Amino acid sequence: MDTQVVIVGAGPVGLTLALELGRRGVRCTIVEQKPAPAKLPKMERCNARTMEIYRRMGIVEKVRAAGLPAHCPMDVFIVTSLIEPPLLRLPYPSVAEARAQIAAKNDGTLPLEPYQLISQYTLEPLLKSIAETLPAVNVRYGSTFVSFAQDAAGVVAEIETNAGARERVTAEYLVGCDGGTSAVRRQLGIKLAGETLLQFRQALFRCDDLYERISIGKGRHYHVADGRGTFLIVQDDTRHFTLHATVESDAEMATMFEKTVAMPVDYEMLSVNEWRQNLLLAERYGEGRVFLAGDAVHLVIPTGGLGMNSGVGDAIDLAWKLAAVLQGWGGPGLLASYEIERRQVGERNVAASGYAAKGRRAWRAEYRPCLRENTAEGAAVRAHLALVAEREQRKSNEMIGAELGYRYVGSPIVWPEPGEGPPHEFIDYVPTTWPGARLPHVWLADGTALHDRLGDGFTLLRLGGTQADTAGLARAVRATGAPLDVLDIADGAARAVYGYDLLLVRPDLHVAWRGNAPPDDAQRLAAVVTGRIANSE
Ligand SMILES: Cc1cc2nc3c(=O)[nH]c(=O)nc-3n(C[C@H](O)[C@H](O)[C@H](O)COP(=O)(O)OP(=O)(O)OC[C@H]3O[C@@H](n4cnc5c(N)ncnc54)[C@H](O)[C@@H]3O)c2cc1C
Repeated sequence: MDTQVVIVGAGPVGLTLALELGRRGVRCTIVEQKPAPAKLPKMERCNARTMEIYRRMGIVEKVRAAGLPAHCPMDVFIVTSLIEPPLLRLPYPSVAEARAQIAAKNDGTLPLEPYQLISQYTLEPLLKSIAETLPAVNVRYGSTFVSFAQDAAGVVAEIETNAGARERVTAEYLVGCDGGTSAVRRQLGIKLAGETLLQFRQALFRCDDLYERISIGKGRHYHVADGRGTFLIVQDDTRHFTLHATVESDAEMATMFEKTVAMPVDYEMLSVNEWRQNLLLAERYGEGRVFLAGDAVHLVIPTGGLGMNSGVGDAIDLAWKLAAVLQGWGGPGLLASYEIERRQVGERNVAASGYAAKGRRAWRAEYRPCLRENTAEGAAVRAHLALVAEREQRKSNEMIGAELGYRYVGSPIVWPEPGEGPPHEFIDYVPTTWPGARLPHVWLADGTALHDRLGDGFTLLRLGGTQADTAGLARAVRATGAPLDVLDIADGAARAVYGYDLLLVRPDLHVAWRGNAPPDDAQRLAAVVTGRIANSE
Protein backbone atom coordinates (compact mmCIF):
# COMPACT_ATOMS: atom_id res chain seq x y z
CA MET A 1 0.00 0.00 0.00
CA ASP A 2 1.19 3.54 -0.79
CA THR A 3 -0.45 4.82 2.35
CA GLN A 4 -2.92 3.67 5.02
CA VAL A 5 -5.67 6.24 4.48
CA VAL A 6 -6.42 8.52 1.53
CA ILE A 7 -8.35 11.65 2.52
CA VAL A 8 -10.09 13.49 -0.31
CA GLY A 9 -10.47 17.22 0.33
CA ALA A 10 -8.41 19.59 2.48
CA GLY A 11 -11.24 21.65 3.92
CA PRO A 12 -11.31 22.02 7.69
CA VAL A 13 -12.72 18.51 8.13
CA GLY A 14 -10.19 16.68 5.93
CA LEU A 15 -7.32 18.61 7.49
CA THR A 16 -8.54 17.89 11.05
CA LEU A 17 -8.81 14.20 10.16
CA ALA A 18 -5.30 14.22 8.68
CA LEU A 19 -3.90 15.88 11.81
CA GLU A 20 -5.61 13.46 14.16
CA LEU A 21 -4.58 10.40 12.13
CA GLY A 22 -1.04 11.72 11.80
CA ARG A 23 -0.85 12.39 15.52
CA ARG A 24 -1.90 8.80 16.12
CA GLY A 25 0.84 7.57 13.83
CA VAL A 26 -1.44 6.54 10.95
CA ARG A 27 0.09 7.21 7.53
CA CYS A 28 -2.26 9.21 5.37
CA THR A 29 -2.29 11.17 2.13
CA ILE A 30 -4.62 14.15 1.81
CA VAL A 31 -5.44 15.25 -1.73
CA GLU A 32 -6.88 18.66 -2.52
CA GLN A 33 -7.88 19.92 -5.94
CA LYS A 34 -7.03 23.56 -5.22
CA PRO A 35 -3.40 24.52 -5.84
CA ALA A 36 -3.32 26.28 -2.45
CA PRO A 37 -5.80 27.30 0.28
CA ALA A 38 -8.13 29.99 -1.09
CA LYS A 39 -9.28 33.20 0.58
CA LEU A 40 -12.96 32.27 0.32
CA PRO A 41 -15.03 33.26 3.33
CA LYS A 42 -17.22 30.53 4.84
CA MET A 43 -17.25 29.55 8.51
CA GLU A 44 -15.90 31.90 11.12
CA ARG A 45 -16.61 30.32 14.50
CA CYS A 46 -15.08 27.20 15.97
CA ASN A 47 -17.48 26.19 18.72
CA ALA A 48 -16.48 25.17 22.24
CA ARG A 49 -16.42 21.45 21.44
CA THR A 50 -14.18 21.96 18.40
CA MET A 51 -11.84 24.01 20.58
CA GLU A 52 -11.78 21.22 23.21
CA ILE A 53 -10.85 18.83 20.40
CA TYR A 54 -8.12 21.19 19.16
CA ARG A 55 -6.82 21.38 22.73
CA ARG A 56 -6.47 17.60 22.84
CA MET A 57 -4.68 17.76 19.50
CA GLY A 58 -2.25 20.30 20.99
CA ILE A 59 -3.09 23.09 18.53
CA VAL A 60 -5.60 25.21 20.46
CA GLU A 61 -3.22 28.07 21.19
CA LYS A 62 -2.16 28.28 17.54
CA VAL A 63 -5.82 28.52 16.50
CA ARG A 64 -6.44 31.25 19.07
CA ALA A 65 -3.33 33.17 18.06
CA ALA A 66 -4.52 33.22 14.44
CA GLY A 67 -8.10 34.16 15.32
CA LEU A 68 -10.02 37.12 16.75
CA PRO A 69 -8.20 38.62 19.76
CA ALA A 70 -9.50 37.35 23.11
CA HIS A 71 -10.77 40.72 24.32
CA CYS A 72 -13.10 41.36 21.34
CA PRO A 73 -16.82 41.16 22.19
CA MET A 74 -18.88 38.46 20.50
CA ASP A 75 -22.15 40.41 20.67
CA VAL A 76 -24.88 40.05 18.07
CA PHE A 77 -26.85 43.08 16.92
CA ILE A 78 -30.04 43.76 15.03
CA VAL A 79 -29.62 47.13 13.33
CA THR A 80 -30.92 49.43 10.67
CA SER A 81 -27.35 50.56 9.93
CA LEU A 82 -24.02 50.83 11.74
CA ILE A 83 -24.63 54.45 12.74
CA GLU A 84 -28.13 54.26 14.21
CA PRO A 85 -29.02 52.99 17.67
CA PRO A 86 -29.37 49.20 17.44
CA LEU A 87 -32.84 47.69 17.64
CA LEU A 88 -31.42 44.88 19.74
CA ARG A 89 -28.09 43.91 21.23
CA LEU A 90 -27.55 40.37 22.47
CA PRO A 91 -24.36 40.36 24.55
CA TYR A 92 -22.07 37.31 24.42
CA PRO A 93 -18.77 37.00 26.28
CA SER A 94 -15.46 37.61 24.60
CA VAL A 95 -13.05 34.67 24.78
CA ALA A 96 -11.32 36.35 27.75
CA GLU A 97 -14.64 36.78 29.59
CA ALA A 98 -15.76 33.25 28.74
CA ARG A 99 -12.46 31.91 30.09
CA ALA A 100 -13.04 33.74 33.37
CA GLN A 101 -16.57 32.28 33.59
CA ILE A 102 -15.21 28.78 32.91
CA ALA A 103 -12.47 29.20 35.51
CA ALA A 104 -15.02 30.23 38.15
CA LYS A 105 -17.40 27.29 37.70
CA ASN A 106 -16.93 23.60 38.43
CA ASP A 107 -20.28 21.92 38.00
CA GLY A 108 -19.66 20.35 34.58
CA THR A 109 -22.03 22.76 32.82
CA LEU A 110 -19.33 24.68 30.93
CA PRO A 111 -16.88 23.53 28.27
CA LEU A 112 -13.16 23.44 29.00
CA GLU A 113 -12.52 25.82 26.10
CA PRO A 114 -14.58 28.80 24.91
CA TYR A 115 -15.45 29.26 21.26
CA GLN A 116 -13.06 31.04 18.90
CA LEU A 117 -13.83 33.27 15.98
CA ILE A 118 -11.44 32.35 13.16
CA SER A 119 -12.20 32.66 9.47
CA GLN A 120 -12.11 29.48 7.44
CA TYR A 121 -9.55 31.12 5.13
CA THR A 122 -7.26 31.55 8.15
CA LEU A 123 -7.95 28.16 9.70
CA GLU A 124 -7.31 26.07 6.59
CA PRO A 125 -3.75 27.32 5.89
CA LEU A 126 -2.96 27.00 9.59
CA LEU A 127 -4.14 23.37 9.74
CA LYS A 128 -2.31 22.68 6.48
CA SER A 129 0.95 24.09 7.84
CA ILE A 130 0.68 21.92 10.98
CA ALA A 131 -0.20 18.81 8.93
CA GLU A 132 2.91 19.38 6.84
CA THR A 133 5.08 19.01 9.95
CA LEU A 134 3.74 15.53 10.72
CA PRO A 135 5.90 12.76 9.27
CA ALA A 136 2.90 10.44 8.82
CA VAL A 137 0.92 12.95 6.73
CA ASN A 138 1.48 13.57 3.03
CA VAL A 139 -0.25 16.80 2.00
CA ARG A 140 -0.90 17.12 -1.74
CA TYR A 141 -2.55 20.22 -3.14
CA GLY A 142 -3.21 20.54 -6.87
CA SER A 143 -4.39 16.90 -6.94
CA THR A 144 -7.96 16.08 -7.91
CA PHE A 145 -9.60 12.84 -6.86
CA VAL A 146 -11.21 11.25 -9.93
CA SER A 147 -12.53 7.85 -8.83
CA PHE A 148 -11.87 4.86 -6.63
CA ALA A 149 -12.13 1.09 -6.72
CA GLN A 150 -12.37 -1.02 -3.59
CA ASP A 151 -12.21 -4.70 -2.72
CA ALA A 152 -11.60 -6.79 0.39
CA ALA A 153 -7.89 -5.95 0.35
CA GLY A 154 -7.97 -2.20 -0.04
CA VAL A 155 -8.80 0.88 -2.07
CA VAL A 156 -7.24 2.33 -5.20
CA ALA A 157 -7.81 6.06 -5.74
CA GLU A 158 -7.26 7.64 -9.10
CA ILE A 159 -5.82 11.14 -8.80
CA GLU A 160 -5.17 13.73 -11.48
CA THR A 161 -2.56 16.39 -10.87
CA ASN A 162 -3.04 19.96 -12.08
CA ALA A 163 -0.42 19.20 -14.72
CA GLY A 164 -2.79 16.55 -16.11
CA ALA A 165 -0.89 13.47 -14.94
CA ARG A 166 -2.97 10.51 -13.70
CA GLU A 167 -1.81 8.49 -10.76
CA ARG A 168 -3.11 5.61 -8.66
CA VAL A 169 -2.74 5.67 -4.90
CA THR A 170 -3.36 2.46 -2.98
CA ALA A 171 -4.55 2.52 0.62
CA GLU A 172 -6.46 0.51 3.18
CA TYR A 173 -9.20 3.11 3.58
CA LEU A 174 -10.46 6.22 1.81
CA VAL A 175 -12.38 9.09 3.43
CA GLY A 176 -14.33 11.60 1.33
CA CYS A 177 -14.13 15.00 3.03
CA ASP A 178 -14.78 16.65 -0.29
CA GLY A 179 -17.67 18.91 0.63
CA GLY A 180 -21.27 19.29 -0.48
CA THR A 181 -20.73 18.15 -4.06
CA SER A 182 -18.62 15.17 -2.93
CA ALA A 183 -17.41 13.08 -5.85
CA VAL A 184 -16.75 10.22 -3.43
CA ARG A 185 -20.37 10.28 -2.26
CA ARG A 186 -21.63 10.43 -5.83
CA GLN A 187 -19.53 7.44 -6.86
CA LEU A 188 -21.03 5.50 -3.96
CA GLY A 189 -24.50 6.44 -5.24
CA ILE A 190 -25.45 7.89 -1.85
CA LYS A 191 -28.18 10.54 -1.98
CA LEU A 192 -28.77 13.57 0.18
CA ALA A 193 -32.28 14.04 1.54
CA GLY A 194 -33.85 17.21 2.89
CA GLU A 195 -34.58 20.69 1.66
CA THR A 196 -32.88 23.61 -0.03
CA LEU A 197 -34.08 27.10 0.87
CA LEU A 198 -32.91 30.63 0.04
CA GLN A 199 -30.02 31.58 -2.23
CA PHE A 200 -27.73 34.30 -0.85
CA ARG A 201 -24.95 36.39 -2.26
CA GLN A 202 -21.90 36.79 -0.06
CA ALA A 203 -19.22 39.42 -0.61
CA LEU A 204 -15.89 39.80 1.15
CA PHE A 205 -14.83 43.37 1.89
CA ARG A 206 -11.58 44.77 3.14
CA CYS A 207 -12.15 47.90 5.17
CA ASP A 208 -9.29 48.75 7.51
CA ASP A 209 -10.83 51.31 9.84
CA LEU A 210 -14.49 50.27 9.95
CA TYR A 211 -14.26 48.14 13.11
CA GLU A 212 -12.71 50.97 15.13
CA ARG A 213 -15.32 53.37 13.82
CA ILE A 214 -18.38 51.32 14.79
CA SER A 215 -19.65 53.39 17.69
CA ILE A 216 -22.95 51.58 18.33
CA GLY A 217 -21.07 48.70 19.98
CA LYS A 218 -18.53 46.12 18.89
CA GLY A 219 -19.80 42.70 17.97
CA ARG A 220 -19.42 39.87 15.50
CA HIS A 221 -22.77 39.82 13.68
CA TYR A 222 -24.84 42.78 12.59
CA HIS A 223 -28.20 41.67 11.20
CA VAL A 224 -29.90 44.39 9.21
CA ALA A 225 -33.65 44.62 9.65
CA ASP A 226 -34.54 44.87 5.98
CA GLY A 227 -36.36 42.88 3.32
CA ARG A 228 -33.16 41.36 1.91
CA GLY A 229 -32.03 39.16 4.79
CA THR A 230 -28.87 41.29 5.00
CA PHE A 231 -26.20 40.57 7.61
CA LEU A 232 -22.62 41.70 8.15
CA ILE A 233 -20.04 39.42 9.77
CA VAL A 234 -16.79 40.65 11.29
CA GLN A 235 -13.91 38.40 10.22
CA ASP A 236 -11.05 37.38 12.49
CA ASP A 237 -8.63 40.27 11.83
CA THR A 238 -11.42 42.90 12.21
CA ARG A 239 -10.22 44.32 8.88
CA HIS A 240 -12.37 42.07 6.72
CA PHE A 241 -16.15 41.73 6.66
CA THR A 242 -18.58 39.54 4.81
CA LEU A 243 -21.97 40.80 3.78
CA HIS A 244 -24.79 38.42 2.92
CA ALA A 245 -27.96 39.49 1.15
CA THR A 246 -30.60 38.17 -1.22
CA VAL A 247 -29.88 40.59 -4.07
CA GLU A 248 -29.99 40.07 -7.81
CA SER A 249 -26.49 41.12 -8.88
CA ASP A 250 -22.92 41.27 -7.64
CA ALA A 251 -22.85 45.04 -8.08
CA GLU A 252 -25.71 45.43 -5.60
CA MET A 253 -23.52 43.93 -2.89
CA ALA A 254 -21.37 47.04 -2.80
CA THR A 255 -24.50 49.18 -2.54
CA MET A 256 -25.81 47.05 0.33
CA PHE A 257 -22.45 47.34 2.12
CA GLU A 258 -22.47 51.12 1.83
CA LYS A 259 -26.07 51.27 3.00
CA THR A 260 -25.31 49.08 6.02
CA VAL A 261 -22.11 50.87 6.99
CA ALA A 262 -23.76 54.27 6.38
CA MET A 263 -20.54 56.24 6.90
CA PRO A 264 -17.87 57.19 4.41
CA VAL A 265 -15.15 54.51 4.48
CA ASP A 266 -12.46 53.33 2.10
CA TYR A 267 -13.17 49.75 1.17
CA GLU A 268 -12.43 47.12 -1.40
CA MET A 269 -14.84 44.38 -2.47
CA LEU A 270 -12.54 41.37 -2.82
CA SER A 271 -14.97 38.71 -4.01
CA VAL A 272 -18.61 37.84 -4.46
CA ASN A 273 -20.05 34.36 -4.53
CA GLU A 274 -23.39 32.68 -4.13
CA TRP A 275 -24.40 30.11 -1.55
CA ARG A 276 -27.58 28.26 -0.82
CA GLN A 277 -29.23 27.43 2.47
CA ASN A 278 -29.37 23.65 2.69
CA LEU A 279 -30.76 21.26 5.27
CA LEU A 280 -29.54 17.96 3.84
CA LEU A 281 -28.37 14.65 5.25
CA ALA A 282 -26.82 11.69 3.43
CA GLU A 283 -28.63 8.35 3.47
CA ARG A 284 -25.40 6.63 4.51
CA TYR A 285 -21.93 7.66 5.69
CA GLY A 286 -19.94 5.32 3.48
CA GLU A 287 -19.62 1.79 2.25
CA GLY A 288 -17.00 -0.87 2.82
CA ARG A 289 -13.58 0.75 3.07
CA VAL A 290 -14.84 4.17 2.02
CA PHE A 291 -16.20 6.70 4.52
CA LEU A 292 -17.66 10.18 4.21
CA ALA A 293 -17.36 13.09 6.66
CA GLY A 294 -18.26 16.77 6.98
CA ASP A 295 -20.27 18.62 4.35
CA ALA A 296 -20.07 15.51 2.16
CA VAL A 297 -22.78 14.02 4.41
CA HIS A 298 -24.52 16.92 6.14
CA LEU A 299 -25.28 20.39 4.87
CA VAL A 300 -26.77 22.82 7.32
CA ILE A 301 -27.67 26.50 7.25
CA PRO A 302 -24.70 28.31 8.84
CA THR A 303 -27.12 29.79 11.40
CA GLY A 304 -26.00 28.22 14.66
CA GLY A 305 -22.55 27.29 13.36
CA LEU A 306 -23.11 23.55 13.14
CA GLY A 307 -21.50 23.00 9.73
CA MET A 308 -17.76 22.66 10.04
CA ASN A 309 -18.12 22.00 13.76
CA SER A 310 -20.23 18.88 13.11
CA GLY A 311 -17.62 17.77 10.58
CA VAL A 312 -14.81 18.10 13.12
CA GLY A 313 -16.85 15.78 15.35
CA ASP A 314 -17.07 13.27 12.49
CA ALA A 315 -13.31 13.45 11.94
CA ILE A 316 -12.49 12.82 15.57
CA ASP A 317 -14.89 9.88 15.86
CA LEU A 318 -13.55 8.25 12.71
CA ALA A 319 -9.86 8.91 13.42
CA TRP A 320 -9.46 6.81 16.56
CA LYS A 321 -11.49 3.98 15.04
CA LEU A 322 -9.36 3.89 11.88
CA ALA A 323 -6.22 4.03 14.02
CA ALA A 324 -7.50 1.20 16.24
CA VAL A 325 -8.27 -1.05 13.29
CA LEU A 326 -4.99 -0.25 11.53
CA GLN A 327 -3.09 -0.86 14.77
CA GLY A 328 -4.81 -4.23 15.08
CA TRP A 329 -6.88 -3.79 18.26
CA GLY A 330 -10.11 -2.49 16.78
CA GLY A 331 -12.72 -5.18 16.22
CA PRO A 332 -14.89 -5.59 13.12
CA GLY A 333 -17.75 -3.52 14.60
CA LEU A 334 -15.66 -0.45 15.35
CA LEU A 335 -15.70 1.18 11.92
CA ALA A 336 -19.35 0.24 11.40
CA SER A 337 -20.19 2.23 14.54
CA TYR A 338 -18.97 5.44 12.84
CA GLU A 339 -22.15 5.84 10.80
CA ILE A 340 -24.39 4.78 13.69
CA GLU A 341 -22.83 7.34 16.02
CA ARG A 342 -22.29 10.26 13.69
CA ARG A 343 -25.31 10.10 11.38
CA GLN A 344 -27.67 10.64 14.31
CA VAL A 345 -25.64 13.73 15.29
CA GLY A 346 -25.82 14.93 11.69
CA GLU A 347 -29.59 14.43 11.75
CA ARG A 348 -30.01 16.28 15.05
CA ASN A 349 -27.74 19.13 13.91
CA VAL A 350 -29.61 19.54 10.62
CA ALA A 351 -32.78 19.83 12.73
CA ALA A 352 -31.09 22.26 15.17
CA SER A 353 -29.94 24.41 12.29
CA GLY A 354 -33.47 24.39 10.82
CA TYR A 355 -34.86 25.42 14.20
CA ALA A 356 -32.36 28.30 14.45
CA ALA A 357 -33.08 29.43 10.89
CA LYS A 358 -36.82 29.39 11.60
CA GLY A 359 -36.16 31.70 14.54
CA ARG A 360 -34.36 34.12 12.28
CA ARG A 361 -37.14 33.96 9.70
CA ALA A 362 -39.68 34.64 12.47
CA TRP A 363 -38.22 38.03 13.42
CA ARG A 364 -37.45 38.94 9.83
CA ALA A 365 -41.12 38.35 8.99
CA GLU A 366 -41.91 41.32 11.25
CA TYR A 367 -40.06 43.70 8.92
CA ARG A 368 -42.27 46.36 7.26
CA PRO A 369 -41.04 48.96 4.78
CA CYS A 370 -42.07 51.71 7.25
CA LEU A 371 -39.56 50.39 9.83
CA ARG A 372 -37.09 53.21 9.29
CA GLU A 373 -39.69 55.96 9.31
CA ASN A 374 -39.77 58.52 12.07
CA THR A 375 -43.46 57.93 12.71
CA ALA A 376 -45.51 56.24 15.39
CA GLU A 377 -46.08 53.33 13.00
CA GLY A 378 -42.33 53.02 12.28
CA ALA A 379 -41.55 53.06 16.00
CA ALA A 380 -44.15 50.37 16.67
CA VAL A 381 -42.73 48.11 13.94
CA ARG A 382 -39.19 48.57 15.32
CA ALA A 383 -40.28 47.78 18.86
CA HIS A 384 -42.24 44.71 17.84
CA LEU A 385 -39.45 43.34 15.63
CA ALA A 386 -36.97 43.81 18.49
CA LEU A 387 -39.30 42.00 20.88
CA VAL A 388 -39.67 39.01 18.56
CA ALA A 389 -35.93 39.01 17.80
CA GLU A 390 -35.08 39.03 21.52
CA ARG A 391 -36.62 35.55 21.67
CA GLU A 392 -36.06 34.19 18.17
CA GLN A 393 -32.50 35.33 17.36
CA ARG A 394 -31.20 33.61 20.49
CA LYS A 395 -32.02 30.28 18.84
CA SER A 396 -29.08 30.84 16.48
CA ASN A 397 -26.57 31.98 19.07
CA GLU A 398 -27.30 29.77 22.06
CA MET A 399 -26.78 26.23 20.85
CA ILE A 400 -24.59 24.94 23.64
CA GLY A 401 -26.85 21.89 24.07
CA ALA A 402 -26.25 20.81 20.47
CA GLU A 403 -22.53 21.60 20.78
CA LEU A 404 -21.74 19.74 24.01
CA GLY A 405 -24.76 17.61 24.81
CA TYR A 406 -24.69 15.18 21.90
CA ARG A 407 -24.48 11.53 22.79
CA TYR A 408 -24.43 8.35 20.79
CA VAL A 409 -27.80 6.69 21.27
CA GLY A 410 -27.95 2.97 20.56
CA SER A 411 -24.27 2.74 19.68
CA PRO A 412 -23.13 -0.88 19.51
CA ILE A 413 -19.80 0.08 21.15
CA VAL A 414 -21.08 1.72 24.33
CA TRP A 415 -22.46 -0.22 27.27
CA PRO A 416 -26.25 0.08 27.31
CA GLU A 417 -28.17 1.16 30.39
CA PRO A 418 -31.86 0.60 30.95
CA GLY A 419 -34.12 3.52 30.03
CA GLU A 420 -34.13 6.24 27.43
CA GLY A 421 -31.30 8.39 28.71
CA PRO A 422 -31.49 12.16 29.06
CA PRO A 423 -33.32 14.09 26.33
CA HIS A 424 -31.41 15.90 23.58
CA GLU A 425 -31.58 19.66 23.96
CA PHE A 426 -30.33 22.15 21.36
CA ILE A 427 -30.22 25.14 23.70
CA ASP A 428 -29.42 23.93 27.21
CA TYR A 429 -26.55 21.72 28.12
CA VAL A 430 -27.11 19.43 31.09
CA PRO A 431 -23.93 17.50 31.97
CA THR A 432 -24.30 13.74 31.97
CA THR A 433 -22.12 10.65 31.94
CA TRP A 434 -24.81 8.50 30.35
CA PRO A 435 -22.81 6.06 28.19
CA GLY A 436 -22.22 7.59 24.77
CA ALA A 437 -22.08 11.18 26.09
CA ARG A 438 -19.11 13.55 25.99
CA LEU A 439 -17.31 13.51 29.34
CA PRO A 440 -18.18 16.83 31.06
CA HIS A 441 -15.31 19.16 31.87
CA VAL A 442 -14.23 19.30 35.54
CA TRP A 443 -11.42 21.23 37.21
CA LEU A 444 -9.23 19.31 39.68
CA ALA A 445 -8.14 20.73 43.04
CA ASP A 446 -4.70 21.60 41.66
CA GLY A 447 -6.28 23.82 39.00
CA THR A 448 -5.68 21.44 36.10
CA ALA A 449 -8.48 20.10 33.92
CA LEU A 450 -9.42 16.45 34.18
CA HIS A 451 -9.70 16.31 30.37
CA ASP A 452 -5.98 17.13 30.19
CA ARG A 453 -5.16 14.08 32.31
CA LEU A 454 -6.68 11.67 29.80
CA GLY A 455 -4.36 10.08 27.27
CA ASP A 456 -4.96 9.06 23.66
CA GLY A 457 -6.29 5.58 24.46
CA PHE A 458 -9.03 4.42 26.83
CA THR A 459 -9.00 5.68 30.42
CA LEU A 460 -10.44 3.94 33.43
CA LEU A 461 -11.34 6.72 35.85
CA ARG A 462 -11.46 5.77 39.53
CA LEU A 463 -13.14 8.59 41.40
CA GLY A 464 -13.62 9.87 44.93
CA GLY A 465 -11.09 7.47 46.49
CA THR A 466 -12.94 4.29 45.49
CA GLN A 467 -11.39 1.04 46.67
CA ALA A 468 -13.07 -1.03 43.93
CA ASP A 469 -10.87 -3.77 42.52
CA THR A 470 -10.67 -2.87 38.84
CA ALA A 471 -7.60 -4.97 38.01
CA GLY A 472 -9.77 -7.50 36.12
CA LEU A 473 -11.34 -4.79 33.95
CA ALA A 474 -7.97 -3.23 33.19
CA ARG A 475 -6.58 -6.66 32.28
CA ALA A 476 -9.54 -7.39 30.02
CA VAL A 477 -9.26 -4.11 28.10
CA ARG A 478 -5.48 -4.44 27.73
CA ALA A 479 -5.86 -8.05 26.57
CA THR A 480 -7.61 -6.70 23.45
CA GLY A 481 -4.46 -4.72 22.66
CA ALA A 482 -6.20 -1.42 23.32
CA PRO A 483 -4.13 1.20 25.16
CA LEU A 484 -5.57 1.89 28.62
CA ASP A 485 -4.58 4.28 31.41
CA VAL A 486 -5.94 3.82 34.91
CA LEU A 487 -6.38 7.13 36.67
CA ASP A 488 -7.24 7.62 40.33
CA ILE A 489 -8.85 11.01 40.92
CA ALA A 490 -9.66 11.52 44.59
CA ASP A 491 -11.21 15.00 44.10
CA GLY A 492 -14.78 15.31 45.26
CA ALA A 493 -15.73 17.62 42.38
CA ALA A 494 -15.22 15.01 39.66
CA ARG A 495 -17.12 12.34 41.63
CA ALA A 496 -19.97 14.80 42.26
CA VAL A 497 -20.35 15.86 38.63
CA TYR A 498 -19.89 12.40 37.15
CA GLY A 499 -22.15 10.66 39.67
CA TYR A 500 -20.27 7.34 39.62
CA ASP A 501 -17.08 5.87 41.13
CA LEU A 502 -15.90 4.27 37.90
CA LEU A 503 -15.98 5.41 34.29
CA LEU A 504 -14.46 3.90 31.20
CA VAL A 505 -13.72 6.76 28.80
CA ARG A 506 -12.97 6.29 25.08
CA PRO A 507 -10.09 7.87 23.17
CA ASP A 508 -12.49 10.59 21.91
CA LEU A 509 -13.58 11.47 25.47
CA HIS A 510 -16.99 9.88 25.22
CA VAL A 511 -18.15 7.65 28.07
CA ALA A 512 -18.15 3.95 27.19
CA TRP A 513 -19.33 2.55 30.54
CA ARG A 514 -19.93 3.71 34.13
CA GLY A 515 -20.63 2.01 37.45
CA ASN A 516 -19.92 1.95 41.16
CA ALA A 517 -18.49 -1.57 41.07
CA PRO A 518 -16.48 -3.45 38.45
CA PRO A 519 -18.64 -4.95 35.68
CA ASP A 520 -19.83 -8.54 36.11
CA ASP A 521 -18.33 -9.54 32.80
CA ALA A 522 -15.20 -7.47 32.14
CA GLN A 523 -14.25 -9.51 29.04
CA ARG A 524 -17.59 -8.79 27.45
CA LEU A 525 -17.35 -5.06 28.24
CA ALA A 526 -13.85 -4.91 26.75
CA ALA A 527 -15.07 -6.75 23.64
CA VAL A 528 -18.01 -4.34 23.20
CA VAL A 529 -16.06 -1.09 23.57
CA THR A 530 -13.39 -2.23 21.12
CA GLY A 531 -15.95 -3.34 18.54
CA ARG A 532 -15.31 -7.10 18.83
CA ILE A 533 -18.94 -7.85 19.61
CA ALA A 534 -21.99 -5.60 19.51
CA ASN A 535 -23.60 -4.78 22.84
CA SER A 536 -26.77 -6.47 21.61
CA GLU A 537 -25.07 -9.80 20.87
C1 LIG B 1 -21.48 31.74 4.62
C2 LIG B 1 -21.12 30.53 5.41
C3 LIG B 1 -20.86 30.66 6.78
C4 LIG B 1 -20.54 29.54 7.54
N1 LIG B 1 -20.28 29.65 8.90
C5 LIG B 1 -20.02 28.56 9.65
C6 LIG B 1 -19.65 28.64 11.04
O1 LIG B 1 -19.56 29.73 11.60
N2 LIG B 1 -19.39 27.50 11.72
C7 LIG B 1 -19.43 26.28 11.09
O2 LIG B 1 -19.21 25.26 11.77
N3 LIG B 1 -19.71 26.16 9.78
C8 LIG B 1 -20.00 27.26 9.04
N4 LIG B 1 -20.25 27.15 7.71
C9 LIG B 1 -20.20 25.83 7.07
C10 LIG B 1 -18.76 25.43 6.81
O3 LIG B 1 -18.11 26.36 5.98
C11 LIG B 1 -18.73 24.05 6.17
O4 LIG B 1 -19.51 23.19 6.96
C12 LIG B 1 -17.31 23.52 6.07
O5 LIG B 1 -16.58 24.19 5.06
C13 LIG B 1 -17.30 22.03 5.76
O6 LIG B 1 -15.98 21.59 5.73
P1 LIG B 1 -15.57 20.32 4.86
O7 LIG B 1 -14.12 20.18 5.09
O8 LIG B 1 -16.49 19.20 5.15
O9 LIG B 1 -15.91 20.73 3.37
P2 LIG B 1 -15.32 21.92 2.47
O10 LIG B 1 -14.93 23.07 3.30
O11 LIG B 1 -16.32 22.12 1.39
O12 LIG B 1 -13.99 21.32 1.88
C14 LIG B 1 -14.01 20.34 0.87
C15 LIG B 1 -12.68 20.39 0.16
O13 LIG B 1 -12.62 19.31 -0.75
C16 LIG B 1 -12.03 19.77 -1.96
N5 LIG B 1 -12.48 18.87 -3.03
C17 LIG B 1 -13.73 18.74 -3.54
N6 LIG B 1 -13.75 17.81 -4.51
C18 LIG B 1 -12.49 17.35 -4.62
C19 LIG B 1 -11.88 16.38 -5.47
N7 LIG B 1 -12.57 15.69 -6.40
N8 LIG B 1 -10.55 16.15 -5.32
C20 LIG B 1 -9.82 16.84 -4.39
N9 LIG B 1 -10.35 17.77 -3.60
C21 LIG B 1 -11.67 18.02 -3.69
C22 LIG B 1 -12.54 21.20 -2.08
O14 LIG B 1 -11.72 21.96 -2.94
C23 LIG B 1 -12.49 21.67 -0.65
O15 LIG B 1 -11.26 22.25 -0.30
C24 LIG B 1 -20.52 28.27 6.91
C25 LIG B 1 -20.78 28.15 5.53
C26 LIG B 1 -21.08 29.27 4.78
C27 LIG B 1 -21.36 29.13 3.31
